[in-house]
Amino acid sequence: MTPLHALKLGCIADDFTGATDLANNLVRAGMRVVQTIGVPHAALDLSAIDAVVVALKTRTIAPAEAVAQSLAALAWLQAQGAQQIYFKYCSTFDSTPQGNIGPVAQALMAALNTPLAIATPAFPDNQRTVFKGHLFVGDLLLSDSGMRQHPLTPMTDANLVRVLQAQSSCPVGLVAHTVVAQGSTAIGQRLAQLQAEGVGLAIVDAVTNDDLMRLGPALRGMPLVTGGSGVAIGLPQNWGLAPNPHTQQLPPATGLRAVVSGSCSQATNAQVAHFITQGLPALAIDALRVASGAPVVQEALRWAGQHLPTQTVLIYSTAEADAVKAIQAQLGVTRAGQLLEDTLADIAHGLVEHGVRQLVIAGGETSGACVQKLGISHMQIGPQIDAGVPWCYAHGSLGALHVALKSGNFGGGDFMIRAFEMGRMREC
Ligand code: ADP
Repeated sequence: MTPLHALKLGCIADDFTGATDLANNLVRAGMRVVQTIGVPHAALDLSAIDAVVVALKTRTIAPAEAVAQSLAALAWLQAQGAQQIYFKYCSTFDSTPQGNIGPVAQALMAALNTPLAIATPAFPDNQRTVFKGHLFVGDLLLSDSGMRQHPLTPMTDANLVRVLQAQSSCPVGLVAHTVVAQGSTAIGQRLAQLQAEGVGLAIVDAVTNDDLMRLGPALRGMPLVTGGSGVAIGLPQNWGLAPNPHTQQLPPATGLRAVVSGSCSQATNAQVAHFITQGLPALAIDALRVASGAPVVQEALRWAGQHLPTQTVLIYSTAEADAVKAIQAQLGVTRAGQLLEDTLADIAHGLVEHGVRQLVIAGGETSGACVQKLGISHMQIGPQIDAGVPWCYAHGSLGALHVALKSGNFGGGDFMIRAFEMGRMREC
């Protein structure tokens, strides 16, 4: 039975920060959005919500497991009455010859009984464009970009028709830019033609946001859309929705403020340095002391307790590449990462117990560890701080709080200060 307030869009994302990125685009295009961490176990009040993004971690797991988890998410979204399903993957099409984009897309098509779905990672705002079926990262072909050396999903072919065909059992086709430029009617006709030819998945060219806005209406009523987060900007118009500041409103932000940072990317290093040069209280976590069993968490929380009543505190393991390499050489890459993720998650938990209710977390894996430790089940997506990083109102085992999850290279130099100064969040 379809619930009274049926969801408009039900989304399944193959990783955690990618889910937030999609949710952020939908909010900015006029939808009220909730992101869940995995498939929810308990009932959620979705009465005022247009879209739900279920965040999975299926990008690099075995294809059969990725399919099973995605179908479980689909079943839950269908039970909420979702009118259209969106399978979200990375804008650099991160996948292996085995999957998981093709296998998951095809499993969803079968479950939804639909013979054709589009596939495009195009996200022009983030320098990802698709032309003649080839994916560009900035000015480079995907295969000439840094993605060719990715440790888990090296992308050595920029021809997406070929890449997707290698991991799909149905024929893969192309909606070329000459068609996209003509508008949604032409796109719809081309999709119908491809379907008649037996094509199951159609890569769609898009080099500008205008292309994505033309693609949106052509997707109206299709059971399944697959793409990066870019396609999302053209979908809310199908329900008569347009950008609207009210969709970004969160409850008022109150409580103490802290930043926990485990990212070692260049942008985060610059943000930590900026925070320190402003004279704000910052505490570095020493990985070797953590490894030796020293009471680092308790020390950090005691230190934070002295500053928190009046100031934003920063607790970080962020370090430059040379220092990270030295730690990894002593502890091993995996052990160093795990130890610091666990430590920062314990610190985040302690900070929230201490009264922190506005928390910025830097680092994708670090965010995952903290979100799990805080028992966060779902979050309402609010105003964007910087591209791809919104404030969220999260529901966790210690109650509700505002969090911003910043992946690696996102955010400007003053991010860790400006995030708390956003007038909009305070007014909402
Ligand atoms: P990003 O989004 O920048 O990739 P992540 O949190 O995803 O950040 O990954 C950073 C990884 O590096 C985590 O596993 C974290 O625990 C680890 N790490 C953090 N600080 C250090 C450090 N000083 N030395 C070694 N590893 C570190």
